Amino acid sequence: MSQPTDRAVLTIAGSDPSGGAGIQADLKTFTVLGVYGGAAITCLTAQNTTGVTAVQPVAPGFVRQQVELVLADLPVTHIKTGMIGTAGVAIALGAILRDFAGELFCDPVLVASDGQPLMEAHGLGDFMDHIVANATVITPNLHELAILAATPVPDRAAIPAAVQSLLARFPRLRAVVVTGGHLEERDATVSDFLFQPDRPAIVHEHARQVTRNTHGTGCTFASALAAYHLLTDSYEQAFLQAIVFMDLLLQQSADHTLGKGAGPLLHHLAR
Ligand code: PLP
Repeated sequence: MSQPTDRAVLTIAGSDPSGGAGIQADLKTFTVLGVYGGAAITCLTAQNTTGVTAVQPVAPGFVRQQVELVLADLPVTHIKTGMIGTAGVAIALGAILRDFAGELFCDPVLVASDGQPLMEAHGLGDFMDHIVANATVITPNLHELAILAATPVPDRAAIPAAVQSLLARFPRLRAVVVTGGHLEERDATVSDFLFQPDRPAIVHEHARQVTRNTHGTGCTFASALAAYHLLTDSYEQAFLQAIVFMDLLLQQSADHTLGKGAGPLLHHLAR
């Protein structure tokens, strides 16, 4: 696979000082996949593997300034968004993302695995209007899909209608990737779904990796998807390769114990 040096990906996300999720996970993923990554920070979090204790949002104008300066200078073809945190940050980014001509991969980070909100309660509308509306790709899990589409998604049969409502509402979307890890959790297989407008959906079934080390899997998957899209220029290739990468990383991280809670993925082992 070519290793482009003339293209970069920028993550716009929160910081996880324990290094498992957020911009730390994003940058590790870009690096291990051979893609140059920048990072504009939206929020500082105080957390470790046992959970998120506090969130300190960055001033919206300062988030915008970070992104503007990077885009004015580096050859950014792909932006990946994670934790946006506040309505103010979403609004501050809206115009830049609308004018960005490249790919915008949006990981709709709303709640941490420990239940801690990662988007302020009244911020969902602005997140939809300013971030999701400008995305070319979104990567919801089932819970996030239900919130974005404002409809229950209790089982796999409910997924296509929820996705179609998002494709109809947000015409910039070229792909919706639904991660099915939370579906039928006792099954030995996991199904992930790729929906593209006017194409049949692709369902990829793969073996479930049983591990406690799952901190940062959402961030890492979305970053891998963006990196592989940068490398292959194909949503389908990016989808399949990101799933293979995640399975490998989960396997390689499974036997290690780092931290007292849900351990992080060990990106540096994925070579
Ligand atoms: N971004 C930040 C800064 C976080 O702290 C978290 C979770 O705690 C996430 C994103 C989401 O992490 P995950 O990839 O586990 O969904």
